[in-house]
Amino acid sequence: MLIPAIRTTILGDKMGFSTDGLVIKEMNIGDNDRLVTIMTRDYGVIKAFAVGAKSIKSRRGSATGLLSYSDFDIDKKGDTYKIREATVNRMFFGAGSDIDVLALSQYLCELCLVLGPYDENGEEFLRLILNSLHFITEKKRPLALIKAITELRIASISGYTPNLVACDGCGEFEADVMYFNTYEGVLYCENCRKGEYCKEINPAVLKAMRHIVYSKLESLYSFEIPERETKILSDITEKYITLQTEHKFTTLDFYNSII
Ligand SMILES: [Zn+2]
Repeated sequence: MLIPAIRTTILGDKMGFSTDGLVIKEMNIGDNDRLVTIMTRDYGVIKAFAVGAKSIKSRRGSATGLLSYSDFDIDKKGDTYKIREATVNRMFFGAGSDIDVLALSQYLCELCLVLGPYDENGEEFLRLILNSLHFITEKKRPLALIKAITELRIASISGYTPNLVACDGCGEFEADVMYFNTYEGVLYCENCRKGEYCKEINPAVLKAMRHIVYSKLESLYSFEIPERETKILSDITEKYITLQTEHKFTTLDFYNSII
């Protein structure tokens, strides 16, 4: 993927820049305006005002809606960001989307809100979230698998990388039964397992977890795993991210309530 250079202009104490990004939260203000939170490529997560975005005539309207991936021209004055212009590239919140697709998409947005970088480069996050949304809306892979991939990968790129190389006690690389400790983020074999947070995993789940953590983004989604193991994997990645972040994801609760 070609990455456009950051374009900035400075006028007095006002700075303007262009970046692409995904709207991960929207809040209407009054009748016409909107405050949006954007996962941007160049500046990570930022909050910006979209004045007049709810007006029918505004081109900013759809480009600043939840789950819109758009190009933004933004003015920054002090700590306040204001969207000057926005052009939509792709809308992931389409009419006719299934409720489970929307629920999972909103959970991915909350993951970005909680774990995303603020005021620093968000390239890796944005690419991950856009790829996951693409696979979710295409529905070519199970939703539980895309959820698991995103949870474990987003944990890894935001400082919660688990150590999946070998048993933390003895160095055993693989066995028919291994354990992943969701609190410590390490592997144990049968003999070394300790702690109440150990989840039993078989070689198929371990292989998938290693792939998600250690593969390049280009091949992140390219692996097969049986359906039964997908469920186990999804349960483990969910427990891992909620335990590590100590965050209660309300959108995850909603997603789990409808599947
Ligand atoms: Zn061991």
